[in-house]
Amino acid sequence: QAWPGGDGMTYEELQTILLQTPNEVEARKSSEYYTAGPHLAGKNLSQALWTKEKWEDYGVTSSIVAYDVYLNYPLDHRLALLEGVDLATNRHKIRYECSLEEDVLDQDPTTGLSDRIPTFHGYSASGNVTAPYVYVNFGTYKDFEDLLAANVSLAGNIAIAKYGRVFRGLKVKRAQELGMVGMVMYTDPQEDGEMTVASGYKAYPEGPARNPSSVQRGSTQYNSVLAGDPTTPGIPSKPGSPRVDPHKAIPSIPSLPISYRDALPLLKALNGYGPNASHFNKYWQGGGLTHEGVDYNIGPSPDSLVLNLMNAQEYTTTPIWNVIGVINGSIPDEAIILGNHRDAWIAGGAGDPNSGSAAFNEVIRAFSVAMQAGWKPLRTLVFASWDGEEYGLLGSTEWVEEYLPWLSAGSVAYLNVDVGSVGPKLNAAASPLLNKVILEAAGLVPSPNQTVQGQTLLDTWDKRIKTMGSGSDFTAFQDFAGIPSLDLGFKEAPNSPVYHYHSNYDSFYWMDKFGDNQWHCHITIAKLWAQIAMQLCETPVLSLNTTDYALALSRYLEGVKEKAKKSTIGEDSAFSFKFLDHATSELQAAATRFDTYTANLILRLSKPVPWWQWWKTVKLLYEVRKANTKYKLLERQFLYPGGLDHRPWFKHVVFAPGRWTGYSGATYPGLAESLEDGNVTNAVRWGEIIVERLEGAKSLLEK
Ligand code: GLU
Ligand code: CA
Ligand code: ZN
Ligand code: ZN
Repeated sequence: QAWPGGDGMTYEELQTILLQTPNEVEARKSSEYYTAGPHLAGKNLSQALWTKEKWEDYGVTSSIVAYDVYLNYPLDHRLALLEGVDLATNRHKIRYECSLEEDVLDQDPTTGLSDRIPTFHGYSASGNVTAPYVYVNFGTYKDFEDLLAANVSLAGNIAIAKYGRVFRGLKVKRAQELGMVGMVMYTDPQEDGEMTVASGYKAYPEGPARNPSSVQRGSTQYNSVLAGDPTTPGIPSKPGSPRVDPHKAIPSIPSLPISYRDALPLLKALNGYGPNASHFNKYWQGGGLTHEGVDYNIGPSPDSLVLNLMNAQEYTTTPIWNVIGVINGSIPDEAIILGNHRDAWIAGGAGDPNSGSAAFNEVIRAFSVAMQAGWKPLRTLVFASWDGEEYGLLGSTEWVEEYLPWLSAGSVAYLNVDVGSVGPKLNAAASPLLNKVILEAAGLVPSPNQTVQGQTLLDTWDKRIKTMGSGSDFTAFQDFAGIPSLDLGFKEAPNSPVYHYHSNYDSFYWMDKFGDNQWHCHITIAKLWAQIAMQLCETPVLSLNTTDYALALSRYLEGVKEKAKKSTIGEDSAFSFKFLDHATSELQAAATRFDTYTANLILRLSKPVPWWQWWKTVKLLYEVRKANTKYKLLERQFLYPGGLDHRPWFKHVVFAPGRWTGYSGATYPGLAESLEDGNVTNAVRWGEIIVERLEGAKSLLEK
């Protein structure tokens, strides 16, 4: 099976090495190293160098690739509830001064470091505003629509929003568009389901519930509009690169993240003002803090009861460092790229991202053991430790923008792991081309808790593979370069300990006591990642499946049709699904034929050819090469150079982050949004653009 490239050992031998090498002790050691101190974007050179050295020790040629990016570091902040405000004299009393600090815990050493990172938002604007405030639920587009419909006054006021549902930057974006002057975000215990102090669980560090002082930091970049450095859309941020005003992609109003302990007095003070949350629906009420006396009133607070929000950020253009490692294969232009980010919002980051980083080092170590045993890969493997993910996928995006020509011509897939392990539930998102290889690999990897001996991940997993949205480093690969990508990780389940996302309590201590205390999930994700990479790297015919893609496309089209039913665009308009239906079924037929043909190629490859019929082998190799090129280039067919409306950086006509969700994906975004907006001309235009891509994909497969 190693024929005709992958050399030095059999397929099964390689598989075994990759399954047996990753181990808990080594993963724990890597995690301990990465999580010992702050490693914010642009402030982690020592960790970049350590990573590079480690990979080189493993025999992987590695280098540091730097970019000069625009970003912010925190200087100062204040959030206070002022009462008895007399606007004429500017006199007031302070009712509550938010601590804006997470508690230092004796048990958890990195929570008390003197250089620990303050609570702040990436790309948030500096400012000092004093204004009445309004509770805006999750701050989704719909939440704001509901508030406007209920005549709640928003302009000129400060919003207090719960974290959750959509990407935080899009909450700020909408608040700003509606004339609000600042935003405060907190995590309501409602987000933790049953795992709360109110339900009788002890808070971290004594127990698995959320520590009331925990704060979610995070970027407020508009991640559905742009990825990467907001001053260099589409081009790499090199020293001397031309720069644009970033404010199409980052806010102009200040925002601050706070704990629910700090939110409590602010929410209580709204009791009695404006409509009650129960006026809307049960998610508004939430109930997370009802037992603490919060009625969840909307406000606004009266002019005599206001918030003072002060945010001081230092903006700078500064280097960040990706580490890129390469194992050269004998086919140079069918590369498989694996990536994980290294930068974290906090000193720890044991979950985000370093559970992924620890697993990554185990993947690379496993390939290194195989190389030492004589293995030579068929295809090239590229490993990337990204910097600057947290601010807006900076390291990965700038790299994709720089190496776009090479990536377009020479890469097969991008395999991302960000948060590798913070709970027991395997979570996967992927381009449908990769569905099959994910399922096959999951069938080879032992599940982390063997309730039945010999159980594989496939046995214990719901097998749901989501569509790609955004929120991690796959975005530039999938949506800008058209490279089939996936994202894997073990996430929380309803009854697992609360994961303190982007908080000081995402620490090594938490991971070792609560998150993955046996370190089993760390090595399971490493094994899964390595198996997928190996299969893509080693099978003579690429392990991609075009039928799955075509089937997914027809599901997405059905989804758009559902949207159309709710659209103001009537059936008698100029827009019709006729051509889309036709092109979709044509592509489906071509995809089925193509996958059947390649299955047959694989069969032919397995049959020995007598040496005197050497021309048959030559012909077969030529056919494999041609088929692989088609697999490689299929996803590229779905790029539209003009990009999506109002966000031209996003080039993929099938996948994009939802314009108002950010994390979760939209399918056929251009068309779906036109229908949502009731814009017939645009719907017709997007219909044509998509049909053209579908036909392009079909003719590629049939060439
Ligand atoms: N993963 C980071 C976050 O969720 C960055 C996401 C992004 O910019 O898309 O905050
Ligand atoms: Ca850029
Ligand atoms: Zn992350
Ligand atoms: Zn993160």
